[in-house]
Amino acid sequence: MARIGVLALQGDFAVHAEVLAGLGSEVVEVRRVAQLPGLDGLVIPGGESTTVLNLMADEPWFQALKRFKDGGGALMGTCAGAILLAREVVNPAQESLGLLDATVERNAFGRQVDSFETTLDVPQLGGTIEAVFIRAPRFQALGPKVETLAAYRGEPVLVREGRVLAMTFHPELTRDAKLHVYFLTMAQTAALTGRFQ
Ligand code: GLN
Repeated sequence: MARIGVLALQGDFAVHAEVLAGLGSEVVEVRRVAQLPGLDGLVIPGGESTTVLNLMADEPWFQALKRFKDGGGALMGTCAGAILLAREVVNPAQESLGLLDATVERNAFGRQVDSFETTLDVPQLGGTIEAVFIRAPRFQALGPKVETLAAYRGEPVLVREGRVLAMTFHPELTRDAKLHVYFLTMAQTAALTGRFQ
């Protein structure tokens, strides 16, 4: 089984850890960069991206996460996690890891639709999933290698670029673990192939 880290600086990390552990993976709550080596995948949970950025100032997280990805690790960013992974962030602009070739607009839904739940069709998962959007961002522009796995009202909400999976909603808040299973498969495949390239 894959060894998966959940970035535990802030946000909804505990629920992700619970879902992943329930699927049988070894889960590590990651609070220090030194915990990254040896993991097959890392989940960057939803929360408040600006707060996570502030907390990341304590250690060289940007370098360490780039090294983690380049070394074959898989990454899953949900909501604030997707914002952190992006190449560019707007509304307002802020620093980001640049590990996903996308521009992400923060808090892109108006106040009336601040939070909502919907059903998304995800052909790669063989059906639909429930998705909870909370002060969600929006993928504004996607690079040519970024694949859209699900859309809501014609706009991408779940995307993948190689070993990086990102979504603007919270998959951990429903009882459906399909997306976590998909990520575990990505991380296992990366572990089996990536390290030998
Ligand atoms: N609005 C938050 C941000 O900009 C993201 C919200 C979330 O992760 N649910 O970081």
